Amino acid sequence: MFDLLSKEERVSYESFLEFSKLHVSANTSSWEKNEAISEEIKQLCAKEGYMGGAIPTEYGGKGWDFVTYGLFNEAIGRNSVSLSGLFNVHTMVAQTILKWGTEIQKEKWIRRMASGEIIGAFALTEPVAGSDVQGIETEYRLENDKLVLNGCKRWITFGGIADLLVVFGKIDGKPIACLVEKNTPGLTINPVGDMLGFKASHLAILNFENCIIEKENIIGREGFAFQYIAPYALEFGRISVAWAALGIVRGCLENCGQYAMDRKTFGNRLIEHGMIQTMITEMGVDLEASKLLCLKACKTKDNHLPKATEEIMYAKYFTTKAAVKHSANAVQILGASGCKGTSSVSRYYRDSKTMEIIEGSNQIHEMILGKSFARKGKKMISKSII
Ligand SMILES: Cc1cc2nc3c(=O)[nH]c(=O)nc-3n(C[C@H](O)[C@H](O)[C@H](O)COP(=O)(O)OP(=O)(O)OC[C@H]3O[C@@H](n4cnc5c(N)ncnc54)[C@H](O)[C@@H]3O)c2cc1C
Repeated sequence: MFDLLSKEERVSYESFLEFSKLHVSANTSSWEKNEAISEEIKQLCAKEGYMGGAIPTEYGGKGWDFVTYGLFNEAIGRNSVSLSGLFNVHTMVAQTILKWGTEIQKEKWIRRMASGEIIGAFALTEPVAGSDVQGIETEYRLENDKLVLNGCKRWITFGGIADLLVVFGKIDGKPIACLVEKNTPGLTINPVGDMLGFKASHLAILNFENCIIEKENIIGREGFAFQYIAPYALEFGRISVAWAALGIVRGCLENCGQYAMDRKTFGNRLIEHGMIQTMITEMGVDLEASKLLCLKACKTKDNHLPKATEEIMYAKYFTTKAAVKHSANAVQILGASGCKGTSSVSRYYRDSKTMEIIEGSNQIHEMILGKSFARKGKKMISKSII
């Protein structure tokens, strides 16, 4: 991938890899066991400016472009998708405010998010509705010129420790998104716990009971939340997940390469056996394909091309599927060592399955991309496919 990056991107990526190796790799297992990332890593990420990586410099962030943001997620995701999940949702919230928020909201929140003083979380899913967001039941009601919020959100990444939540609901049947602070009276937060993957990402259930919210906290316009606000944020989420899944595929190849070259069975190194060669070849080629899709998605986004939305979906869809396939094969190649709960490949196996569900499941991607590719296919009959 290095040959396709600019000098600045290469330098940034090397520093991310170094950070991940030094501060993430050795601690992942204990975070997973404790179902929590450490206070220390949060502070370190804030000190390095990573909480504001994707936030513009005018608000105290680093102003990364999409490619750099992707590379960061790859380097962190290689060792902990629970931690890359933090940057995922925090960035979704910051970008939601930057794109749709008022100047007052930006001044109030964005600098503090860039410094890591506050953490953001994105609350859309409910017990009654996930893929089908139109079905959410959380309700905002106008009373004495204030909003009264009632409802329940579930599976909220970093909801357990976030300070600021973007909470989707309906007002008079119209979708709306509002900023809600953690200490709002009537809000109770409980951990989900015992997840298959993303074990250290502080997933929470949020209950809102007659919470009073200022009207100034509405983001964008009433009626806009599903059509504009959520899809815009989800693009950032998909970029994060796609690149973190790429980190997992790289991790699979690194673990399998080492084991297959060193381990001997039936008088030969594992890599001399054809069945192992097949699995490692597919892993390596999918790694290369995933890199290209992730890079192309971010370059189209950096260039503000309308096709970026679909390109990001290709990258998320392909790379998470590749991570599921190759993490399963990686466990197979490492045998019993791969079955140990603390091994990297067993973590990849659990995390990658989860990645096919979040930020629009594979089926939701297929509902959109299937028809889109069919339309393209029809047009291609008389044109070149390149
Ligand atoms: C680790 C983790 C972190 C998460 N973080 C957040 C977060 O920060 N914020 C947030 O709001 N949510 C979060 N979620 C929730 C996530 O977005 C939802 O799980 C996801 O949208 C799917 O919704 P669901 O689980 O309710 O599944 P459902 O919508 O009930 O769907 C169940 C299954 O049916 C499939 N399906 C649904 N409709 C169709 C259809 N028409 N055709 C074919 N198949 C279909 C789905 O793909 C899925 O496989 C998180 C979930 C997990 C696991």
